[in-house]
Amino acid sequence: MARNERHTSPASLDPVDWATHRRVAHEALDLALDYQRRIADGPAWRPMPPEIEERFETSLPREGEGIEAAFREFRETVLPYVLGNPHPRFWGWVPGQGSPGGVIGKLLAAGVNPVAGPFNDSSARVEAQVIQWLREAVGMPEGTGGVLTSGGSVANLVGLAVGRDAVAEADVPADGLTVEGRRLAVYASEAVHSSVKKSLQILGMGRGALRSVPVDDDHRIRVDVLEEMLAEDGRDGSDRKPAIVVGSAGTVDTGAFDDFEALADVAEREGLWLHVDGAFGALAALAPGLRHLVAGMERADSLAFDAHKWMSAPYDVGVVLVRDREAHRKTFTVEASYLDPLPRGTGASPESTDRLGPQLSRGFRALSLWMSIREHGIRRFGEVVESCVRQARYLASLVREHPELELAAPVPLCVVCFRYAAGLPPEEANAVNREILMRLQEEGVAVPSSTVLDGRFVLRVANTNHRSRREDFDLLVEETVRLGRAVVREIGTSASLGSEP
Ligand SMILES: *Cc1c(COP(=O)(O)O)cnc(C)c1O
Repeated sequence: MARNERHTSPASLDPVDWATHRRVAHEALDLALDYQRRIADGPAWRPMPPEIEERFETSLPREGEGIEAAFREFRETVLPYVLGNPHPRFWGWVPGQGSPGGVIGKLLAAGVNPVAGPFNDSSARVEAQVIQWLREAVGMPEGTGGVLTSGGSVANLVGLAVGRDAVAEADVPADGLTVEGRRLAVYASEAVHSSVKKSLQILGMGRGALRSVPVDDDHRIRVDVLEEMLAEDGRDGSDRKPAIVVGSAGTVDTGAFDDFEALADVAEREGLWLHVDGAFGALAALAPGLRHLVAGMERADSLAFDAHKWMSAPYDVGVVLVRDREAHRKTFTVEASYLDPLPRGTGASPESTDRLGPQLSRGFRALSLWMSIREHGIRRFGEVVESCVRQARYLASLVREHPELELAAPVPLCVVCFRYAAGLPPEEANAVNREILMRLQEEGVAVPSSTVLDGRFVLRVANTNHRSRREDFDLLVEETVRLGRAVVREIGTSASLGSEP
């Protein structure tokens, strides 16, 4: 033992034998990198067999079995059955794949493990820098601040909380929500993400605060109907007080973009807070050829988006940017003597992140993102976005050209909704496509997800996948048709297909 090496306390979590940890750590790192490198060789998803499920029901370990045994258990029971979203044919929901550089950032973040909170350390500088880099990347004005969150849901929650407080002519954090007996109203298109509704619930505004505005044929908010609703709700004697307009940059169903210039004009005129949910679509701002889709987005008061989706930062990390930093701090500042910043020392933080969101102690989420932006440069992320959109259009063209397939919505960005139609009556088509989807997944071919558009159950491919290639979409189309024909044949011979929910 080196002269200055401290003895490990018997109650410490440090190993007595560091050599074993070092060996396992190197193996683990190789495994993580090889997983990403070779993932295309395996299935896009693998269901867990019952004998493995049972191994997750063993009782609390009283005594330790050592890091090697824990690692072995991971390799046998966890590794083969993780979701698989790093796979090139995983397009369900809105997936991020991660990247080898992200693995390194995450490893280092866990290694140095700072409390990314209201402290005077480098992790706070890294986060502040990432926020400003991303602000510039998505085109928000200088002076705008922000904070990293666990994802788009919490980013939406933060933006809406600040908006609620900024618009209510009352001290909402202290006094609650009643504003002269009128209920605060929030306006968003029918296609707005469920996390916005959940936020209203959490914020005490209630899902009933939401005024759901219809969409046009391109799934964009009907600004004319929005204006009618505002006129109605703004009248004397109305029990609603218009407060927030939520725009969507890339709706989850179809990837549609609202008209942000029009929404910003309305919000400005009516004194409303404009929040934009741009979970994946905000990143269209990174691609010069797609920037027109987000024109006016920079006029938002708050903008939420994800880094773990289209930027493939390792889960979980989202971003919220808020133009009015004072308003942002006001909503989340709670005085506590044990957190009072001092002018110098460990507590003299450059920005108290606990005053920008619900969390006090936070992980060092910023590091892998910071390293990844350095590794690739922001331009590469724009190229990923552009390439994914080109591939989505390619898939849409394959679908249009195939006589048995039907494109179910326009493809403004990276989401393609389609289905196996082949002249089937609507009810039967729904059942057939549900069965096709489950088989695509169970056979490990690909993982699209689904949605329902105008009562039609459709397969939904959200291509935010930097590993996808054109041939992956060729395969998807071939296999969808193969399975569609097989399912239709089976229905012909037996009526035992999964029933409608
Ligand atoms: C994914 C998504 C969200 C929620 O973000 P999470 O990171 O999953 O919490 C919100 N809005 C849209 C449009 C999304 O696609």
